[in-house]
Amino acid sequence: MGFAEDRYESMQYNRCGDSGVKLPAISLGCWNNFDGRAERGVMAGLLGKAFDLGITHFDLANNYGPPPGSAELNVGRLLAKEFKGYRDELIISTKAGYAMWDGPYGDFGSKKYLVASLDQSLQRMGLDYVDIFYHHRVDPETPLEETMGALDLIVKQGKALYAGVSNYSGAFTTEAHGTLKAMGTKLLINQVPYSMLRRGIEEDVLPPVGELGVGVMAFVPLFQGILTNKYLDGIPADSRAARPEGTLQEGAVKPEVVDKVRQLNEIAKERGQSMAQMALMWVLRDERVTSALIGASRPEQIEENVAALQQAEFSAEGLAKIEEILAG
Ligand code: NDP
Repeated sequence: MGFAEDRYESMQYNRCGDSGVKLPAISLGCWNNFDGRAERGVMAGLLGKAFDLGITHFDLANNYGPPPGSAELNVGRLLAKEFKGYRDELIISTKAGYAMWDGPYGDFGSKKYLVASLDQSLQRMGLDYVDIFYHHRVDPETPLEETMGALDLIVKQGKALYAGVSNYSGAFTTEAHGTLKAMGTKLLINQVPYSMLRRGIEEDVLPPVGELGVGVMAFVPLFQGILTNKYLDGIPADSRAARPEGTLQEGAVKPEVVDKVRQLNEIAKERGQSMAQMALMWVLRDERVTSALIGASRPEQIEENVAALQQAEFSAEGLAKIEEILAG
């Protein structure tokens, strides 16, 4: 399968902190829609469309599925065939930090867990190395030196090119950065939740990462689809919230939230954008945010989301109106 010749023209690439690597402004995550029952053709269509539009970064974790590990297996098969010959044009990330296998060595942040988990991930994906390996969440019990020591080892072994953390607070990011630096390894990035409806990182994480030169991967920027126009008239049968086993419970689509989205959608229309497009550009308005990490159930969503980059600017007045709605 060939990919679009002009794939690097529609995307913007942002330097990740003060590192050497640039990431696409929009990245694609495989938390949903790459599970054990997903159809190969659908998955190939999603990754293929993404790459055609310059999305060079696919994000995974050991536990993405269900069952855990199936997303890595699925993506690995596609990398081996559809993406054969393109490994050097791709940034593949995975993570460990949540429960993955039974017993005391399959969860949290010990060296024992992280090293074994990455080996398993590489095997599932059929890769020699990942580009970014993340510690998925802070472990309240394991000393940070041990967890960072595992990331440092993995990078020095060449099993990952860069080290990342995810869901780390500002204080923990600062500590992780310093600990890794003392070992001679750079903390590349923190992957954190960020959207119009979840803004905790603005005061906590963005100030320190800006100073440290650590990049930010903003996950769930569409709040699992709530920050699009899809739930304005109820819950469509083909949406994430309609899937009983899904990660978005129907109850999470609250009327008061939908009402805010309805008002935001009017501002998006004035900008000549869809709601999803405005929500993504809003996340990227801060230059400390390297990339917005979206999910997609169909290729058209990826097209729409990447097209948002054509209208990235916000006026002060537009931003103020958005603030007003969000605060309401
Ligand atoms: P989003 O907030 O981008 O939600 C994606 C969903 O929104 C899609 O699957 C689709 O749902 C809907 N959607 C996307 N684009 C559009 C559009 N243009 N119009 C209408 N609906 C749209 O992110 P995700 O929740 O999928 O998470 C993204 C990634 O973030 C994950 O894959 C993972 O890599 C990462 N992540 C990391 C975590 C961490 O702890 N580090 C935790 C959670 C996620 P539908 O099925 O309804 O069509």
